[in-house]
Amino acid sequence: MEQPSFTANVKAIDKTSNPRIVIIGGGVVGLATAYQLLHVLPHIRVTVLEKELTLGCHQTGNNSGVLHAGLYYQPGSAKARLAVQGIQSMVQFCQQNQIAHEVCGKLVVATDESQLSRLRDLWNRGQQNGLLGLRWLQREELQEIEPYVQGIAGIHVPQEGIVNYKQVCERIAYHIQNRGGCIQTGAAVTQLQPQGLGWWIQSSAGSFNADLLVNCAGLFCDRVSQLAGEPRQVRIIPFRGEYYKIKPERQYLVKNLIYPVPDPKFPFLGVHFTRMIQGGIEAGPNAVLAFAREGYRKSHVNAGDLWDVVTYPGFWRFTANHWQMGLDEFRRSLSKQLFCKSLQTLVPTIQESDLESGGAGVRAQAIYPNGNLVQDFYILSRSNAIHVLNAPSPAATASLAIGAEIADYITQRL
Ligand SMILES: Cc1cc2nc3c(=O)[nH]c(=O)nc-3n(C[C@H](O)[C@H](O)[C@H](O)COP(=O)(O)OP(=O)(O)OC[C@H]3O[C@@H](n4cnc5c(N)ncnc54)[C@H](O)[C@@H]3O)c2cc1C
Repeated sequence: MEQPSFTANVKAIDKTSNPRIVIIGGGVVGLATAYQLLHVLPHIRVTVLEKELTLGCHQTGNNSGVLHAGLYYQPGSAKARLAVQGIQSMVQFCQQNQIAHEVCGKLVVATDESQLSRLRDLWNRGQQNGLLGLRWLQREELQEIEPYVQGIAGIHVPQEGIVNYKQVCERIAYHIQNRGGCIQTGAAVTQLQPQGLGWWIQSSAGSFNADLLVNCAGLFCDRVSQLAGEPRQVRIIPFRGEYYKIKPERQYLVKNLIYPVPDPKFPFLGVHFTRMIQGGIEAGPNAVLAFAREGYRKSHVNAGDLWDVVTYPGFWRFTANHWQMGLDEFRRSLSKQLFCKSLQTLVPTIQESDLESGGAGVRAQAIYPNGNLVQDFYILSRSNAIHVLNAPSPAATASLAIGAEIADYITQRL
């Protein structure tokens, strides 16, 4: 399913008392869902269960912090629709809550002739998705926006911006608690058992009952869906994205956001330059297979997670089709020189000595058994459960819109 589809075999949730909804996962998608639910259904009882002691510390807290306006996504897709709606809601939320953010605009740069047709495709997608103020730039115009960039053409996307999604999470959490919702950290969900029309939920912080559960477990969403008795129709393959930081004395090389033209086969956008809202410039992320779902370092291996990858036919089919890309990414991950070379295609004056190690994030990317990447958001719904099974970028930007859509769907059923 490539659209958030709520074609459930619908049974009524118990309406005699205030329904209890448990959301598994305190990343930005789970929190935004709780927030939107309490907005439209203030009488319900919402609990968010998060296995870590702090919120938003996996994908949400290790991303590029970019507000994506919807340039890249297939017109009509859920990603396009929810990014376009989501960036508006997110910017508005930041304004209303005094969260530091900036709509600074982004430049997408074609560096050789072979990329021009893909840049035109992006332009068309952006127009079809309703982005405002897009500008096609000729070679000489690029440097009016980013003085150190080099390319043969580009697109300026003025609606895009930067924010710290961890700060967004903290503020959403504040509103959830203010509206009577409960957030339980240190609560890793380990068992889900049907009980009546609802669920008995075992976690490391005790047990809970729910009429309906919403699985927003990010890197573990497929396993949580399995706990609820679902066959794993898709599997999460973790792709680490590594960053470098530009040393302070060379940060003048980048004003805002500089992106390459991405390969449309992959949902990854290619290594780019990002100004962070808290200060500093990051370069990255690449996309290498992680040997652990929360494997933020190259040396981090989790035998169970690795077993999950190597025993999945979808992974081997994906690898057979894209081994060259995988190898290139792997080599670039091991070599700072190669990483810098990729960056130099956009900003030729950047040098290896300008880069120091940054952090890393791990993307939860769902893959079908036939080896195809799930390109769109994927939300599976059942009579008493909703599973968010693919919410990669731009799901942080789109989180409030994803949450609103899930809340609307639940409202219709209550
Ligand atoms: C390197 C990188 C760069 C990115 N850049 C951007 C960007 O610039 N802009 C953008 O919009 N998006 C970006 N994204 C994508 C974005 O970060 C994700 O789409 C988004 O954060 C997904 O949020 P989530 O809540 O689904 O997942 P997560 O943030 O991963 O949250 C899931 C939560 O579930 C918890 N959990 C898991 N299992 C259990 C369990 N059994 N019990 C209880 N809790 C559990 C986890 O601890 C975690 O906190 C990027 C992602 C990465 C990795």
